Amino acid sequence: MPEPCQVCGSTTLEDYVQHDEGHYLRCPSCGLICNARAEELMSQAGARYDAGEYFAGYQQRLPKKLRAARRRLDLIRSFVPDGRLLDIGCGVGDCLLAAGEAGFDAEGLDVGDYAVQHCRDLGFKVHQASITQTGLPDRSFDVVTMWDVLEHIPRTADGLVEVARVLRPGGIAVIVTPTGEYIKAHLFRQTYQNYRAGWALTHFVYHNRRTLRRVLRDCGFEPQRLPAIHSGAFRRGWAAGAAEVLVAPMRAALGAMRSGCRLNRNLLAVARKQ
Ligand SMILES: [Zn+2]
Repeated sequence: MPEPCQVCGSTTLEDYVQHDEGHYLRCPSCGLICNARAEELMSQAGARYDAGEYFAGYQQRLPKKLRAARRRLDLIRSFVPDGRLLDIGCGVGDCLLAAGEAGFDAEGLDVGDYAVQHCRDLGFKVHQASITQTGLPDRSFDVVTMWDVLEHIPRTADGLVEVARVLRPGGIAVIVTPTGEYIKAHLFRQTYQNYRAGWALTHFVYHNRRTLRRVLRDCGFEPQRLPAIHSGAFRRGWAAGAAEVLVAPMRAALGAMRSGCRLNRNLLAVARKQ
């Protein structure tokens, strides 16, 4: 008998994907998709993150990831201009590098040996711990970033409660996580990568926009509307600011279209600690 839905409490979870590589359940009430083998797989997941092979693809895509990280830092600086930033799941260090460039006092946190050593070699202070038990002091950060992290823990609230504890009141949490709403992942779910091979062994929860907002509120956050123009871009100089003004309307129109047609692979959420 599966556990009730972790977001809405419904006990009538339905099989969503079931094959040799993965077994996922979907809550018909709120749409949350969760890995039926999460608890069993979680006990084996730690060792996977220790090895460099897990991050090989990330290293290959580092230039692209760095560009994305800089754009996200522009967004973050629209909410909090500077201060202490903790990047949970610091991986190959793209967020830490971009945060350092943007003037934040950036520290990393990761469970895996490889990421911890790699980011320390880049010169950052890195804590080796889990998002659910960071060991860091209360109210010690202005920003906490979690890019491709929340899907790796069985219960989202276990991570977000800890993030709320280490954030100062008014500080912000920034989340990027693959969504179960992505139309391709939904239509072709029997063969799509979200539910297969390595992903099925380490991805435990796929949120939609409503479930993520609900968990954030339950954990003491207020989800924020994303600004049309990322004012933080202007801090990178006049050229970056001018580019932001030109790009913002197109990004807004494209974003609305992509969201309506369920074309976004990932959810991006910014939430302020109450
Ligand atoms: Zn539910």
